[in-house]
Formats: sequence, C-alpha cells, structure tokens
Amino acid sequence: SREWHLVARPHGWPVPSDFALRETPVAEPAEGRILVRNLHFSVDPYMRGRMNDVKSYVPPFKLDHPMDGGAVGEVIASNAEGFAVGDHVLHGLGWREYADVPAQHATKVDPSLAPLSAYLGVLGMTGLTAYAGLFEVASFKEGDAVFVSGAAGAVGSQVGQMARLKGASRVIGSAGSDEKVKFLVEELGFDAAFNYKNGPVKDQLREAAPDGIDVYFDNVGGDHLEAAISSLNVHGRATICGMIAQYNDTEPVPGPRNMAMIIGKRLRLQGVLVGDHYGLQNQFVQEVGGWLASGELKHRETFVEGIENGVDAFLGLLRGDNTGKMIVSATR
Ligand code: NDP
Repeated sequence: SREWHLVARPHGWPVPSDFALRETPVAEPAEGRILVRNLHFSVDPYMRGRMNDVKSYVPPFKLDHPMDGGAVGEVIASNAEGFAVGDHVLHGLGWREYADVPAQHATKVDPSLAPLSAYLGVLGMTGLTAYAGLFEVASFKEGDAVFVSGAAGAVGSQVGQMARLKGASRVIGSAGSDEKVKFLVEELGFDAAFNYKNGPVKDQLREAAPDGIDVYFDNVGGDHLEAAISSLNVHGRATICGMIAQYNDTEPVPGPRNMAMIIGKRLRLQGVLVGDHYGLQNQFVQEVGGWLASGELKHRETFVEGIENGVDAFLGLLRGDNTGKMIVSATR
C-alpha cells in the first residue's frame, strides 16, 4: 500500500520535497479493526497548519509517518462486529491506499443515498462547517445580507447557497478568478460576486453591497476581514472560519486596522470549530440532503485522480485550483 508521509516541515509554501510517497505492507486487521481500501480522500486547508510543529486544536503531523485526514472507502477485511466486507465507511485515515482503522473510528455510509465523495464535502466536514458557521455561530436570519469569502470553495459555496435558500436579502461572494465569479452568479445564484484579485476588496465589496452586510463568513482573513468590518451594519455578525490568506506566511500578520468600528456598530466576531457542532449532524444531513435531492443546492467537486497526485492536489487547493470540494481519488 502506498501512503504519503511528511518528511520535512514546510517553511512558507510547502514544496514537493517536504513529502514522500512510501510503500508499506498491508496486514490482516487485528481484533476490533477493519481494513479499508480508500476510494477517495480529502485534502483540506487545515492540514497546512498540521505541518507546523505547533500546539493547536489538532496535533501536528509526525515526520516520517503517514499523514491523515478524512477518507471514504470499502471494507475489504473485517475483524470487528457490525462491519462486513463490502461496507462503505467514512474514517480519518486518508492519504493512503489501504487503511487499518479501529472500528469505533469508522462510520458506515450509504453510497445509494449520495456519491461517496459527498461524505467528505457537502454532506461531510466542510458541509457541517458551513451549516454550523452560518446558522449557529452567525445566527443567520431571514432578510440578512450575507457576504462570504472563499465563495467558490467547499465551505463558501455551501454557505452562500444555504443563505439564499433560507431567505437572505442578498448574497455576495468573493473568489480568485473571473471564471469562479461567473460560476457563483450564474450557477449558484449569488446576487453578486467579485474577483478579489481585480482590485481592493473594500471597494469591490462596497459596490456589491451598497446597503451593507449583516453577516460575514470569513474563510480568508486579511483585507477581506478588514473590508467586511467596514461594510457590516449595526449588530452585524462575523463567523471567523478560516484565514487561508495567511496559512503560508512566515511572520505574524497585522490585524484589521478598523477594529474600533466593532464598538460603534456593536459587531460580534466569533470563531467556529466544526468539531464542536457534531450535535447538529442529524439536522444537517436531513436538511442539506433534502436540498440536494430537490436540486436546490448544487455542489461541485474537483477530483484529482491517483494517490501519487495527492500532494499536488493539496498544493493546488492552497493555490485555488479547485472549484468546490477538492478530492483525491485513491484507486489504482
Ligand atoms: P476551499 O475549497 O475553499 O479551498 C481553498 C480556497 O481558498 C482555494 O480554492 C482558493 O480559492 C482560496 N484561497 C487560497 N489562497 C487565498 C488567498 N490568499 N486569498 C483568498 N482566497 C484564497 O477550502 P475549504 O472549503 O475546505 O475551506 C475554506 C476555509 O474554511 C479555509 O480557510 C479552511 O481553513 C476553513 N475551515 C475551517 C473549519 C473550522 O472548523 N473552522 C473547517 C473546515 C474549513 P480562490 O481561487 O478563490 O483564491
């Protein structure tokens, strides 16, 4: 079985030599474990943080060990009650072809309800992040004008569409290419979108939201956050979900220069961690599953074929090569 190891800690942007694809033998599963052939695994921005040797909400990857992360696959051998050969499972041992998974860390998923890859995205971790971040953390309510950055990505594209479905007065998104902007407006039904590379975010946001915004869903940080603080209306709320603009920075980044506006406008800026919100799982799957079935919610995925291209997929994600969820298909 081939698996990706982190072999050096990146300084700034990761480079291919920070990683190695290594062969390892596959053994029969021990008591309480299952052997899973991974069909798809997830590459996610948070994995960049795990490449640094710093204390955080998820432990760092160990050097010369396989990296891990979300994956879906098929059980090919089982030594655990409740799991049979042929079952499909979601688990946390991605970045490898075959995973030796403790059964208590595997969740059965039904490929007849949704394609397996959906359990890594729209019905999985990024979907729940969008759902909890919008409805619980930002306290979204009907009539709110919502701005989301990283809007063509997995989390962002779902935030914008769910806001529209729940009666937002206006949904605005930003993304890093004109093609993505077109996708947001023409395919996902955003009211307005802009390419943050085409000019100052502050000016483009003001133009897209002349009456201001009530909710900002931040996937990016930096000048996006500063612009949002300027455009937020009184009692506005921001969900701080990610700051991908700075994940490869080597120096601490200065914060927004307009923080004093938080006072006069009585803004609320609150972080979200998806791990806190698994209590919403059933409600989330039911509601989002319904929108998917009715076709009201669209989800795009970008597939990279072959485990050998896993690191390229991850680097591509950081550069914005993906529209929607970035997925690596691990099959030979
Ligand atoms: P995406 O699918 O959104 O992929 C990442 C995207 O980030 C790229 O496609 C790229 O799109 C954009 N990007 C890269 N660099 C920059 C930059 N300098 N400025 C603006 N945009 C940039 O990933 P996810 O949906 O998985 O994650 C989105 C955010 O949510 C991330 O910040 C992630 O860390 C965070 N997150 C947080 C969770 C939590 O629990 N708090 C859980 C899951 C995700 P473009 O072409 O538009 O630049």
